[in-house]
Amino acid sequence: MKQEELATLLREIIRDEKRILTDKVDLYSYSYDASFGTYLPDIVVLVMSTTEVAAIMKLANKHGIPVYPRGQATSLSGGPLPVHGGIVLDLSKWDNVLEVDAEDMVAVVSPGVLTADINDAALKEGLIYPPDPSSSNVSTIGGNLAENSGGPRGLKYGVTKDYVIGLEVVTPEGEVIRTGGRTVKNVTGYDLTKLIVGSEGTLGVITEATLRLYPKPQATKTMMAVFDDIVDSGKAITKILSSGILPSKLEIMDNATIQAVEAYEPLGLPVDAEAMLLVELDGHPAAIDEEILRVEKVCKETEARTVKVANTSEEANELWRARKLVSPAIVREKPTKISEDATIPRSKIPDMFQRLKEIREKYNIDLVVFGHAGDGNLHPNIIADKRDKEEMRRVEQAVEEIFKAAIELGGTLSGEHGIGTLKAPFMEMELGEVGLDMMKRIKESWDPNNILNPGKIFPQPGQRLVLTNG
Ligand SMILES: Cc1cc2nc3c(=O)[nH]c(=O)nc-3n(C[C@H](O)[C@H](O)[C@H](O)COP(=O)(O)OP(=O)(O)OC[C@H]3O[C@@H](n4cnc5c(N)ncnc54)[C@H](O)[C@@H]3O)c2cc1C
Repeated sequence: MKQEELATLLREIIRDEKRILTDKVDLYSYSYDASFGTYLPDIVVLVMSTTEVAAIMKLANKHGIPVYPRGQATSLSGGPLPVHGGIVLDLSKWDNVLEVDAEDMVAVVSPGVLTADINDAALKEGLIYPPDPSSSNVSTIGGNLAENSGGPRGLKYGVTKDYVIGLEVVTPEGEVIRTGGRTVKNVTGYDLTKLIVGSEGTLGVITEATLRLYPKPQATKTMMAVFDDIVDSGKAITKILSSGILPSKLEIMDNATIQAVEAYEPLGLPVDAEAMLLVELDGHPAAIDEEILRVEKVCKETEARTVKVANTSEEANELWRARKLVSPAIVREKPTKISEDATIPRSKIPDMFQRLKEIREKYNIDLVVFGHAGDGNLHPNIIADKRDKEEMRRVEQAVEEIFKAAIELGGTLSGEHGIGTLKAPFMEMELGEVGLDMMKRIKESWDPNNILNPGKIFPQPGQRLVLTNG
């Protein structure tokens, strides 16, 4: 269908001309996300209600037009990219509902609300919304739900799926359904809420969510431990967790990351150390005072060179500053960042570090490793320049080998960034033929005309990893 014809049909649904974008310059603004590749949509619609979404899905179904839901496009796996053109459904402006019910300990939100705003609203009631992706200030709850996003607090509190108890969803065929509800317990039939969470916008458009909130922890304590041997830092992680202590955060930075941050902003970091752990405990003040001493002891017993405990919140912020600066620091040398999130069982962290070291040398790439060590969710990041085709080919091979290493070590392709377009070629490697086929059958039964976010998750015949399109 021609763009003008489609725009005319959409104008009957969206009575506000400003919310339908057809200009080339606007379409280009919607052609990319935070990963790779650029794809032009035919049209962009800024939706503001369930009725609008349902009517658009019905229209798209009737005419076989692809629809791509989109939040703030911070996806690192190509999730919202309109790879087959069609309609981009921008849900980011639909942020008018954010209700906190302190008695039921839930928040009800519309899809465009920024995740950090939910936590801020909860804090006013003495509660928290625990999932804390690093992008929480710039990503929407709709995107977080679709990707099942996680963050540093995932170690103790779990990820997005652990906090969703109810959803309103528009199906690919334009029907409106409600899954779950406001109760913490609900075992009525299949758990469609959990099916939609993490489905990357391929099974339905999330138009409202009911989220669980937790009591705000009374106090926190932060500690930094420096190691000369990365294997020892891995042993420290295992020992801390098996000693009956569950930190709220347990992050690792390798030598290349430490060096990059120190070069970016001198903080007095140990640039010759192989690894640094940042540990945060939360809970009753007396309990965490005692626990931090035990964590300190474990780190010393596992050969930590130094251990520093923050005594004030200012000192704690200073320790966390190193971790916060990682992203800007590592892109200083070269402009292209390939951010992976291969995840392995905790016990395999030292092996994964060894494999990553070999991959770095074999392909002569700039690879830094940091991440949520406590739950085995490492972030190997490759820094490159996408204009250098030869370098990008080496990067593609290295990324493929990182995925293989993670799976061979009993891990997974993605701990939190999702599959999107980028990891689709590797799905069968992890799931096997039958496992992947079962997922395809779910997709086919929800979306018989394959119009919702087509081209994602499932590999196309012969598809391989390409980081050089656009
Ligand atoms: C600097 C940076 C740091 C990051 N840190 C983290 C991190 O710590 N943890 C983590 O998990 N991720 C992280 N990410 C990745 C990204 O922020 C998350 O995947 C986030 O959830 C995407 O939200 P978004 O609003 O940008 O969604 P988009 O990128 O726009 O979309 C993501 C997916 O959700 C679908 N979608 C969006 N809204 C809806 C909806 N309402 N209904 C159905 N489907 C929908 C889209 O189709 C797409 O498949 C980071 C990204 C960046 C750039």
